[in-house]
Amino acid sequence: MSGEELIRREVIENFTFPGKLVEEIPYGSGHINDTFRLVFETEQGRKRYILQRMNKSIFHKPVELMENIVGVTSWLRKKILENSGDADRETLNIVSAGDGRPYYLDSAGDYWRAYLFIEGASCYDKVEKKEDFYQSAVAFGHFQGLLADYPAETLHETIVNFHNTASRLDDFKAAVQRDACGHAGDVQREIRFVLEREHLAYVLGEMQAEKKLPLRVTHNDTKLNNIMIDDKTGKAICVIDLDTVMPGLAVNDFGDSIRFGASTADEDERDLAKVSCDMELFELYTKGFVEGCAGSLTDEELDMLPIGAMVMTYECGMRFLADHLDGDVYFKTHREGHNLDRCRTQFKLVADMEKKLSAMNAIVDKYR
Ligand code: ATP
Ligand code: MG
Ligand code: MG
Repeated sequence: MSGEELIRREVIENFTFPGKLVEEIPYGSGHINDTFRLVFETEQGRKRYILQRMNKSIFHKPVELMENIVGVTSWLRKKILENSGDADRETLNIVSAGDGRPYYLDSAGDYWRAYLFIEGASCYDKVEKKEDFYQSAVAFGHFQGLLADYPAETLHETIVNFHNTASRLDDFKAAVQRDACGHAGDVQREIRFVLEREHLAYVLGEMQAEKKLPLRVTHNDTKLNNIMIDDKTGKAICVIDLDTVMPGLAVNDFGDSIRFGASTADEDERDLAKVSCDMELFELYTKGFVEGCAGSLTDEELDMLPIGAMVMTYECGMRFLADHLDGDVYFKTHREGHNLDRCRTQFKLVADMEKKLSAMNAIVDKYR
């Protein structure tokens, strides 16, 4: 047995799985954690589980992170049961380690966790049908709705200042000052783009400070392949990948989905003529999200959805530009100027959203 296999033996023995292990395969197309699917033979038939080694270079506080997931999944389970739902499929369910903890720390220093396998449902990496994008909106909205009265302030901020756009702006300005690679002179136009829109960095934080936007449980990785779609009905049944669940603003989750999901081009497209915010996709997502939230969003939150999309896109573009200035130290790059290309698509989207703001507001009004 290889060292890796030995470690997995140790880990599997230390979880409370039933029966005899009959299959163990690397699973899914996640980029962050190492995911395995386990099959056990039990007296009641075969049972499947997900086992994950958590990425320790990204998540520095695995215990707090798991506390967040325990809090949110047990809350969801209770709500789903109250609504007579299928709580084994409509939320992640943690399988405890032998000592009762929601994780196991192996002898190599890695943290592992296990979930019930969600049967009869699939994850899709790419939006193939517009319906899938709508389904993801319903799912993330529903997630928001079920957690609307969760005490969000009790969650740990596992990645500090994750969507604090004002502090991201400070970081950006520091990167311009440092000008570590001497790129600043070549990207004056992009730097100006950020500085001319500083209000975008403050608007949501100010509304939050004035209690106009409530602190919510946010998912922070609202992409299509973090929901499971029922193989029979084609409907989204469950939101997964709760690593980045944190206290935050509902409009940020919405905004980030629009940023990457409603764009007409890839994030690193060089031909900016191809980049715009697809209003049909914006409408589909808005409809699904508002329906999924089922009345739990406040009027101010609804008002701010389009601005949320703009702010998330602005923030992301600014982070790409800062990383370009720093010499590509954070985001993985595959070509010269990759982060600058990414920054430009984001700013093109922001500019397009500015033009379409009243149309976006009208769409929100149609579904509120
Ligand atoms: P990402 O790159 O999205 O951050 P990740 O590495 O954090 O991914 P997950 O999204 O948690 O990993 O899981 C990876 C994949 O494993 C999912 O896309 C899904 O296909 C599958 N998966 C995860 N949890 C479950 C589950 N409980 N039941 C069935 N499949 C699951
Ligand atoms: Mg995932
Ligand atoms: Mg993930």
